[in-house]
Amino acid sequence: LVSRKVKSDDTVLDIDGVRIGGNSLPTIIAGPCSIESEEQMEQTAAYLAGKGIKILRGGAYKPRTSPYGFQGMGVDGLILGNRVAKEHGMLFITEVMDTRDVEIVAEYADILQVGARNMHNFALLREVGRARRPVLLKRGLSATIEEWLYAAEYILSEGNNEVILCERGIRTYEKWTRNTLDLSAVAIAKKETHLPVIVDVTHAAGRRDLLIPLAKAALAVGADGIHVEVHPSPATALSDNEQQLDFAGYDQFSDALSSMLKVP
Ligand code: PEP
Ligand code: MN
Repeated sequence: LVSRKVKSDDTVLDIDGVRIGGNSLPTIIAGPCSIESEEQMEQTAAYLAGKGIKILRGGAYKPRTSPYGFQGMGVDGLILGNRVAKEHGMLFITEVMDTRDVEIVAEYADILQVGARNMHNFALLREVGRARRPVLLKRGLSATIEEWLYAAEYILSEGNNEVILCERGIRTYEKWTRNTLDLSAVAIAKKETHLPVIVDVTHAAGRRDLLIPLAKAALAVGADGIHVEVHPSPATALSDNEQQLDFAGYDQFSDALSSMLKVP
């Protein structure tokens, strides 16, 4: 179902007037790694809305390496993320980690995110396939392209055609980046499937100083958009403080990409 052999034209999502894929301008999804507080979300949404960003991200359920790391605000985070996004005329995307939470997350989020660690969670894939919300599906940490596309197939096979693929880097022997951004996967996903493809430069790089060149490269190989983490004060963030951009950093990022984000 994900193949271009089945559907040759690009799938274009229209989520409350926000278009993703096809000939639409590249979509930017931005916001903090974790939803931490009202002040943090309010400042971030106000800033990003002012930059023309239409999709606000923020994790309420966090897949942390350590069980002692900040696990997210849960339902309170969903309520906060939804409210702040709506106040600023934005869509809200957040991760769902557990089949038991799909219903509540779908109530507050405009787009459901399946994270890299859950790409192989087939029960979750089926469950979001039954939800009436678009799904952003991240590529697993060590998933082949084929496994990633089959994971998308699980969602479509349950009747949900609104899937966005997201390349977020894979694990290799390389240590100078957190993950290795696989641009070939982006080009292949664009060629072999009709689904929109977004590149998460933040989790791919794991370091702020590479986000501009990686985002440019992603758009150059045909990505339909970029996913980037932005936090008012990355140094004090409760997760991913090495890689989130502050507002000045995002100003530079959007200036550097501006010619690629507009109609020529
Ligand atoms: C995230 O986007 O919040 C996240 C945890 O990313 P990933 O699943 O790609 O690691
Ligand atoms: Mn993060």
